[in-house]
Amino acid sequence: MSERATARPIYLDHHATTPIDPRVLEVMLPYFTQEFGNASSKDHIFGARASDAVDTARQQIAGLIGAREAEIVFTSGATESNNTALLGVMESYADRGDHLITCVTEHKAILDTATRLEHLGKRVTYLPVDRFGSIDLDLLRSSITEKTILVSIMAANNEIGTLAPLVEIGKITRERGILFHTDATQAVGNIAINVERMYIDLLSLSSHKIYGPKGVGALYVRRRNPRVLMTPLMWGGGHERGLRSGTLNVPGIAGLGHAAKLAQLLMPKESERLRGLRDQLFAGIKERVPAIEINGHPSDRLPHNLSIFVPSVEAKGLVVATPDIAFSTGAACTSERVEPSHVLLAIHPDQARAHQSIRFGLGRSTTLDEINYTVVRLSDEIFHAHRLRA
Ligand SMILES: *Cc1c(COP(=O)(O)O)cnc(C)c1O
Repeated sequence: MSERATARPIYLDHHATTPIDPRVLEVMLPYFTQEFGNASSKDHIFGARASDAVDTARQQIAGLIGAREAEIVFTSGATESNNTALLGVMESYADRGDHLITCVTEHKAILDTATRLEHLGKRVTYLPVDRFGSIDLDLLRSSITEKTILVSIMAANNEIGTLAPLVEIGKITRERGILFHTDATQAVGNIAINVERMYIDLLSLSSHKIYGPKGVGALYVRRRNPRVLMTPLMWGGGHERGLRSGTLNVPGIAGLGHAAKLAQLLMPKESERLRGLRDQLFAGIKERVPAIEINGHPSDRLPHNLSIFVPSVEAKGLVVATPDIAFSTGAACTSERVEPSHVLLAIHPDQARAHQSIRFGLGRSTTLDEINYTVVRLSDEIFHAHRLRA
C-alpha cells in the first residue's frame, strides 16, 4: 500500500479547498523567479513570456468550459467573479431593468452581493428549494418580469452537492431575453460544463477548488449571441479588456490554466472513481448506522460530495472527536456562535437536523483505504456518541 494511502489525518474536505497538484506547482514556479515579467509590458521578452503564459492559461480554461479565449476574465477568485458578474451586469443594464433572480441556497458570495444590490435599490427574488435542494423551474418562469435582467443559479451546491438543471434554466433565460450567470465553482472539473450547450452567459470559477493555487479565479463573459455588457468592479490600467484592471497574477494564472487542463484530462475517470468511493462511504456508514440520511438530491449531485444527517448526534462533537479525519459540519461558524447552515435550513427547516449533519468532499488523493478507515472510525464514534447520550 502506498504511503499516502495510510497518511493521517485524512483530508475529506475538498469542497472547502483542494491541495495544489504537484504538476500545477511545477508549471507555476518559473513565473516567481526568472519569468517574472509583467504580462502587460510586452516591449521586451520578459513581458512577452509572461503574456504567453497568460494566453496559454486562457486557452486552457476556455477549453474546459467550451468558451472562447477572449471571453475569459482573470480575477482573484470566485468571490470576485460573483461580485463582478452581479454588480457589473445589474449596473450596466440599469436602464432596462432592476430585477435579479437567484436562490436561497447560493454561496454567501452571491447572497451578500444580492443584499448589496438591494441596498443599491435593486430588487431581488430568492427562489426557494425543495427538500433535495432543487429549484422549481415553473416558479423561475413565473418570477421573470419585464424588469428582470439576470438569473444567477449555482451549478452545484458546495454543501449538499445538488446539481442545477443548467440546460433548462439556460433555455428559459435565453427564450426570455435575459442573462444567465452560474457560480460553477464546485462543478467545473467535476462534471462536464459547456457554456454553449447550457446557454450560460456568465460563469464563475475558482482555482483552489480544482487543485490550483488560492487567490485566483476566472469569470466567463459571453461575447456573442448575446454580447454581455458589464461595468467593471476594478478600475485602472484597463487590463482584461477593461473588465478587470490590475497587474495580472501570472504565476497564479499559469497555475489555474494548468489545473484546468488537468481537470479536463482527468475528469471522466476521476469522477467515476470518486462516485464509487463516495457511494462506498455512504453504504459503509449506513450499514452500521441505518438511521443516517443523505442531504441533497439522491441522483442529481456532485460525484465527490456526501452530506449526511446523523440523527441525535451533534456534528461539532463528531468533528472534534475524530481529528484524524478532516471533514466539516453543516454549520458555518460566525464568530462565537455556531450558525446552522442556510443551505441545510432551506432543505429542512429543522435546526436540530442542521446541527446533526456532516459533509465529506472526496478528492484526487482519496483512496479506498481512507474510505474504509473513515467508515469504521466514524461509525464507532457515532455509536460512542449515542452511548454518551443514553
Ligand atoms: C469556494 C466557493 C466560492 C468562493 O471562491 P473563492 O475563490 O474562495 O473566493 C464561491 N462559490 C462557491 C460555490 C464556492 O464553493
